[in-house]
Amino acid sequence: MPTPSVHSLETPSTWIRAGTKIVATIGPASEDKLVAMIRAGMSVARINFSHGTAAEHARRVAAVRAASEACQTPIGILADIQGPKLRLGKLAAGPRALFAGQRVRLIEASSSSDPDVIPFYFHGFRGAMRVGHRVLLADAAVELVAERLDGDAVVAVVAREGEIADRRGVHLPDSLLSSDLPTQQDREHIQLARELGIDLLGVSFVSRSEEMDRIRELIPGVGLIAKIERKAALENLTSILRASEGVMVARGDLGVEISLEQLPLVQKHIIQEALREGRYAITATEMLESMVENSRPTRAEVTDVANAVLDGTDAVMLSAETAVGRHPVEAVEAMTRIARAAESSQRYSELRGAAFRQNEPTFSNATAMAASHAAEALGVKKIIVFTESGNTVRLLSRYRVTADIVALTPSRATLHAMTVLSHVRPMSFERVLSLEEMLHEAQEELLERGLVQNGEEVIFVAGVPAGVSRSTNMMKLHRIGEATRMH
Ligand code: ATP
Ligand code: MG
Ligand code: MG
Repeated sequence: MPTPSVHSLETPSTWIRAGTKIVATIGPASEDKLVAMIRAGMSVARINFSHGTAAEHARRVAAVRAASEACQTPIGILADIQGPKLRLGKLAAGPRALFAGQRVRLIEASSSSDPDVIPFYFHGFRGAMRVGHRVLLADAAVELVAERLDGDAVVAVVAREGEIADRRGVHLPDSLLSSDLPTQQDREHIQLARELGIDLLGVSFVSRSEEMDRIRELIPGVGLIAKIERKAALENLTSILRASEGVMVARGDLGVEISLEQLPLVQKHIIQEALREGRYAITATEMLESMVENSRPTRAEVTDVANAVLDGTDAVMLSAETAVGRHPVEAVEAMTRIARAAESSQRYSELRGAAFRQNEPTFSNATAMAASHAAEALGVKKIIVFTESGNTVRLLSRYRVTADIVALTPSRATLHAMTVLSHVRPMSFERVLSLEEMLHEAQEELLERGLVQNGEEVIFVAGVPAGVSRSTNMMKLHRIGEATRMH
């Protein structure tokens, strides 16, 4: 077996290839560090609409667009809507510790200033509670048990102690609560997402594909990411994948819905099914959690990120590490280094040959397959794809080729939506009318930007006639500098 590469965690490499993508959640800790985060390898900025105000979201979207411009790098903006997620209200007295055996009062309210009263900010909480029901807080870190119903309040005992803070997630595994997706709040957030012109929408607590269809009607033309965090979503995974562009392995809430020890296997399953269906996968939650405080990740976290890459994930995600952590830039740098090291391994290259991809009998997929084989046979460094919808690029990306996939598109929406795809470097490209012009202009532009060298062998993937969506039907092997004439 060849020796694994020795990209050291201490020495960042200067030239960052397009490989596994990094999604970073933007919050108070990162909104003024965006340029450094892009330089460190962030490709997608996530804004969680569950936290913060509309004005803050608007300010962060503008900041990401400005940083993207300054770095001359397209950055996708992923807005996350919370779906029928149960959350705590505002704790006016700030974060607080709960101790085992302690009794607290639980009420249905948006906030509470009494430290012994915990507000549950969703309709139907009180009505659904019975004596003996469990209340799990903060991704199940803290557990309460209802002891007594007392008018509008529930008196509960702390069974597992820990810290709680504003807006932490709530799970009621024993209680029956009706929930619908999209909620009224989701509709408002989708409207905001449209106004802000975001590129990708993450949808929490999906259970069925029809929910994704309903969301798509509300926000056409935006890439939809189904967050897989419910047992029901696992059961309906194939139909949900087909109704979405991508999925997120949302390990926080998923880890509460299924037993924790199932998570590693479920993660592999979701990623594999996404690759099979030609969809992308993002692996999320607590990947470098200790970096909220520390400037270096733990061995276990490094191993987790590397394993997600080896599972075939398109992107790895940072949540609290970049939203509220002390070392947002270092967290992105660490992820970049871990991902590049994993990608240079023999085991990673085996993903290319994996037999689980669905054969999609379309010209686009056959062309993508042919290009991926030719790229490996020739050892080329770039596959240059002309794309309108990004469809062929998504199909090509899933072969996890060694080459960079340079994806040229005249569509701004497609440009930004492709930022999440593994191995893809999206670039904007003016719309030209003939294939010859396309090849000629691309060659000139890539030479000018120093992205290809004279004499370098590349592969072009395109559709003829030019400018028509879903028409990819040709691959051309080309030596840079030679004539782009086709006759
Ligand atoms: P989800 O289930 O959608 O992941 P979450 O509550 O886990 O929701 P994340 O986006 O994963 O939220 O972020 C992790 C933590 O970072 C949150 O618990 C929250 O405290 C914090 N956070 C995220 N975004 C912001 C923000 N804009 N402002 C303040 N804190 C934030
Ligand atoms: Mg979640
Ligand atoms: Mg989370």
